[in-house]
Amino acid sequence: MKATMDKLVNLCKGRGIIFPGSEIYGGMGNTWDYGPVGVEIKNNIKRAWWKRFVQESENSFGVDAAILMNSRVWDASGHTTSFTDPKMDCKNCKTRHRADNLIEAHSKGAVNPDAMTNEEMEEYIKANKVVCPKCGKSDFTNIRTFNLMFETSRGVTEEGQNVVYLRPETAQGEFVNFLNVQRTSRAKVPFGIGQIGKAFRNEITPGNFIFRTIEFEQMEHQWFCKEGTDGEYYADFKKKAWDFLVDLGFNPEHLRYKDHDKLAQYAKSACDIQYLFPIGWSELNGIHNRTNYDLSRHAEFSGKNMEYLDPITNEKYVPYVIEYSIGADRLMLAVLTEAYDEEELEGGDVRVVMHFHPAIAAYKVAVLPLQKKLGDKAREIYNKLVKSFPCTYDEAGSIGKRYRRQDEIGTPFCVTIDFDTLEDGTVTLRDRDSMEQIRLSVDELEAYVEKKIKFN
Ligand code: ATP
Repeated sequence: MKATMDKLVNLCKGRGIIFPGSEIYGGMGNTWDYGPVGVEIKNNIKRAWWKRFVQESENSFGVDAAILMNSRVWDASGHTTSFTDPKMDCKNCKTRHRADNLIEAHSKGAVNPDAMTNEEMEEYIKANKVVCPKCGKSDFTNIRTFNLMFETSRGVTEEGQNVVYLRPETAQGEFVNFLNVQRTSRAKVPFGIGQIGKAFRNEITPGNFIFRTIEFEQMEHQWFCKEGTDGEYYADFKKKAWDFLVDLGFNPEHLRYKDHDKLAQYAKSACDIQYLFPIGWSELNGIHNRTNYDLSRHAEFSGKNMEYLDPITNEKYVPYVIEYSIGADRLMLAVLTEAYDEEELEGGDVRVVMHFHPAIAAYKVAVLPLQKKLGDKAREIYNKLVKSFPCTYDEAGSIGKRYRRQDEIGTPFCVTIDFDTLEDGTVTLRDRDSMEQIRLSVDELEAYVEKKIKFN
């Protein structure tokens, strides 16, 4: 793997993929803005996910729920009381850390802090003289728990203000709409609800580019099923989540399953798919068997009956939930890492090329007139193609430089317009990965590209 975080950050910044947030004001820690190329790539990732898990999945339905929800939702889900991280401050350099992360890094993963109490973590850090990654001293405050939800308030007058939270996960939007979707879609259990949307977490130690940010997008799918069938569907979703990544072009050797050692008290099983990021093996997505905890809690807190009535057996029950959750931004980072390559060319030059799946690439075709005076014909071809798929147009600089620019943003095909095009209506089509060139007519071009850019 050739990508390092620095190389990715620089490429993204230079090629309009991702910029530091609020950059002209000196930035705002761990916020990132997607640029013209990046927004297309991320939208394509989301589209591929939606197609696979909502549109093509039998009995699956989409929702787009509000970010701001009734605060009782977060009492029911447990977030107001237990969505916390164990934070410690370094007394020497005043930086803030997560105690569990410090232990994990110090023990190189050999010790599992998830299984420890706060007191045990404090003791471990003292006994093993774990040091601050910033200043190297071992002098920390005791652990304080810190709620990760961003809090704001609603109301026109000061007195009337109510606390509201920016949602820390999208999942609750699916749970609170369980009855609505079931009724209006006449859905029969088992069925699924998918959603893509923003989530916000006041992470203590955000960082590593877009791996962990305070604002991010999640793609989540909740599968509602009957107790007893949950094990089978859990295994099913582990496979579906894996297959989606492989179909996006991931090398299976860069992926692995990681079962959770410690489960939430309501969960029956939980597993992550980890990816070999430039920072090492880390969570890319999670699959959880959440039992009937979520719907039962909402029934308890809202007073609504969340039971499903089986129309055949007349049995009433609260369905189990298999949750599959993946961050769109974290997947974007994985896609960028996986696609990045440096290839040595004849003559010793090195080309940087992003081998995205064509369905993910921002532009499918770059239209390049060999000379500026061929611009009219090239524009005509561009205008025709862009009606079918996103294209870009470039007439500045040598053809070699223009190819490199397209390689760096992963455009799968470059179409060169030359003087023969004016005579016989043919163009040169260059393949990004093999760099092979073929000659074909403008009429054949569209169908040729369409076939290659599909995500199935
Ligand atoms: P982590 O252990 O990395 O904090 P988590 O287990 O809390 O993640 P979940 O709550 O299961 O994560 O969220 C589901 C997915 O959302 C994660 O697998 C990840 O892809 C993404 N995600 C979670 N937190 C962030 C974040 N701060 N920034 C970007 N993506 C995130």
